[in-house]
Amino acid sequence: MSEVLIVTADRAVVDGAARDATAVLAVDGAIARVGDPAEVLADPRAAGARRVDWAGRAMLPGTVNAHNHSFQSLLRGIGDDLPFLEWRDRALYRYSPRLDADGMATAALFAFGEMLLHGVTTVCDFYYLNAQGNDHASATIEAARRLGMRIVLARCFYDWDGAPAAYRETVPQAVTNFEALHRRYHDRERFLVTVQPAPHSQHGASPAMIEAGAGCARDAGVPWHIHLAEERWQVEQSLARFGQRPLHHVAGLGVDLARAVIVHACWFDEGERALMAERGAALAYCPASNMFLGDGVTDVVDLRRRGVPVALGTDGGCSNSRVSVLDEMRSAALLQKVARTDGQAITAEECFAMGTELGGRVLDVPVGRVAPGFRADLVALDLGDPSLWPVQALAKNVVYSLSARAITDVVVDGAVVVQDRRLFRVDQQEIATRVRAVTGHWSRA
Ligand SMILES: [Zn+2]
Repeated sequence: MSEVLIVTADRAVVDGAARDATAVLAVDGAIARVGDPAEVLADPRAAGARRVDWAGRAMLPGTVNAHNHSFQSLLRGIGDDLPFLEWRDRALYRYSPRLDADGMATAALFAFGEMLLHGVTTVCDFYYLNAQGNDHASATIEAARRLGMRIVLARCFYDWDGAPAAYRETVPQAVTNFEALHRRYHDRERFLVTVQPAPHSQHGASPAMIEAGAGCARDAGVPWHIHLAEERWQVEQSLARFGQRPLHHVAGLGVDLARAVIVHACWFDEGERALMAERGAALAYCPASNMFLGDGVTDVVDLRRRGVPVALGTDGGCSNSRVSVLDEMRSAALLQKVARTDGQAITAEECFAMGTELGGRVLDVPVGRVAPGFRADLVALDLGDPSLWPVQALAKNVVYSLSARAITDVVVDGAVVVQDRRLFRVDQQEIATRVRAVTGHWSRA
């Protein structure tokens, strides 16, 4: 027996363009038809469908957060405005090793719950507090399941011995644990959970660890993720240690760059940007985090011109400190425009695509478009909210002027997960209580 759902809204943004009244027919969580309500309701598959009526609202594809660290939401505000190494040592390394599996579940409920309320329907959680096992990553995945959120668990491969023990594994441990987590959770039917490897960075993972992560990606047939060239010192360190710039060094290892999701790349030079395009690598771009930490400016306009797929990420809760991809669309546009002192450097529609369909493409999950064959992940905006007026400019206004206050309802895989601005499946009071219990005695670094 199939689950059939019809969602109707007064307006919609479909493939970057605004439409009038629109209906979506979803069968077993997948979009089967999109069109005018009368046509969709007349579809023979619509008989007996459950109805969700978004009258007075506009429908968007759910947004895709291509890079996050959920546990960092608990550290929000604790180490802000410090230099990176002081933040790392006084906030991150001080508090993060204290979290157990239950603490990770709290962090994930908090981070993902807040994201859902901001219209994020898919999150890629780059997860590096594995404590040599899978209990923490599993607790994170289970939290996403409770909320009804779609998750890509990017399980970290980390062996730098300067980090807390909870981050580190040997190469064989990381491979064995990745394979076990992938076997247990990877969902090839509804894509609600996917598991991908993530060698942390050149400073967090040895060349052997990076090769092991990329090898697991090849075996599992999934993308792999790595932070590169976020701050300038990472380029200098790569030159000093390996005699090569970051991407040239990584490209020389036994890895397939066509499946790589490079995170940040703020300091890639022209040769590295050309190599990304040539080898088919993708970018997870985190503009607000890059601004918050003072990292630098990735040349996204150039990368896009070269055909590199660019997705958007919020990064961790304590390096942004917001969790909204709609917000990242605006940040991406503003940062690229000011970096080139050119108000036409990039458009709202391009940034919207980066936060939706390109996110799905980069993560290799069929999400981010309101189109047949994609999963039914949808967001409703209140057309009565002044931040969307005048509504004839909806496709621009969702990027440049939208207030999070306008986000009212969210559907993931054909199921309601946010209704009337509240989480639908988990009591928000439970999350508040849990966050207080874990962080109540933490002090600012
Ligand atoms: Zn990161």
